[in-house]
Amino acid sequence: MARPNQARLDLGALRHNIGHARALAPHSKVMAVVKANAYGHGAAIIAKTLEPLADALAVACIEEAVELRAAGISAPILLLEGFFEESELALAATENFWICVGNERQLSCLENAQLQQPMHVWLKIDTGMHRLGIDADLAESALKRLNTTPNVANDVVLCTHFASADDLDGTQTREQLEQFNEVCKNLPGKLSAANSPGILGWPDSHFDWIRPGYMLYGNSPFSAPHKNTDALQPVMTLSSAIISIRDVAAGESVGYGASWTASRPSKIATVTIGYGDGYPRLARNGTPVLVNGQRASLAGRVSMDMITVDVTDVEDASLGDEVILWGADLPVGEVAEWAGTIGYELTTRMPARTPRIIAAP
Ligand SMILES: *Cc1c(COP(=O)(O)O)cnc(C)c1O
Repeated sequence: MARPNQARLDLGALRHNIGHARALAPHSKVMAVVKANAYGHGAAIIAKTLEPLADALAVACIEEAVELRAAGISAPILLLEGFFEESELALAATENFWICVGNERQLSCLENAQLQQPMHVWLKIDTGMHRLGIDADLAESALKRLNTTPNVANDVVLCTHFASADDLDGTQTREQLEQFNEVCKNLPGKLSAANSPGILGWPDSHFDWIRPGYMLYGNSPFSAPHKNTDALQPVMTLSSAIISIRDVAAGESVGYGASWTASRPSKIATVTIGYGDGYPRLARNGTPVLVNGQRASLAGRVSMDMITVDVTDVEDASLGDEVILWGADLPVGEVAEWAGTIGYELTTRMPARTPRIIAAP
């Protein structure tokens, strides 16, 4: 029998989730974000599935966009970090890669390039994230420059990015929205601001283009339940199986560093998935896993290829039984919290070692 690990992908869930994003923002175009190997799910299969349902796709850089073209994707693809050197521009122009421009270096490089055809540009404006984008007070002059160079098509989109849209009670998103509206109110061009938490939680942020990433994969960016996240369906189910099972007496420890000690006579199952397979090493004792659909908890440190699970209270846990690490009944975000991170990181870090298996299409 082959090693049983799988990251099963439910493409029906993916289609459902992009439909949900559209339903929440019915007047906006949808740019589906598939950077970083589609958040670890597999860029080609995810982009192929989303292409007919999205108005455009987005990735971080030209290498990711080229990979999608090689996989047969013909939709426009926005490069979210723009370009790093002028040599990328000619290829971007011929391949219909759209580019974000977010600093003076990119702007002047674009003005000075000798291009055969104009580029489609998104002008990134910094409204408080302070990561990328030109300062708000320079937006007007930057836009003028873009609109006068023959290297840029006359459809520049003005965009910004939220720093804390997942914090629904905070003030920052409101402030960023106010600044974005203020800067853009007299400028020509379509607008875009919303990432997943914007789409789900901030209806005023939808504008002309939404840019969903994480929610497409069926996961909620919020730490608390929210009415708009109930409908999301996780795309990835990470599963493995029990390969060993034993009784451990009270007082005995389990695993590297003896970080877990049995407080009662316990049944411990060894599951063949570890940090080399995408399961986070920092997951703490008590992290939930599903064994035969029942919740059990991690007992002992995560190894490279294995974890150990306390199945004392699981009925009939036996060799070969399926173990689900995250999926529909165990949100990746919940597991991530036990590991001191976010679900984004867990799916994105899924290594090639774990096969992606397409579940019923
Ligand atoms: C990654 C990214 C997104 C998508 O964010 P999610 O929270 O995953 O929806 C949107 N816009 C930009 C600029 C990004 O870099």
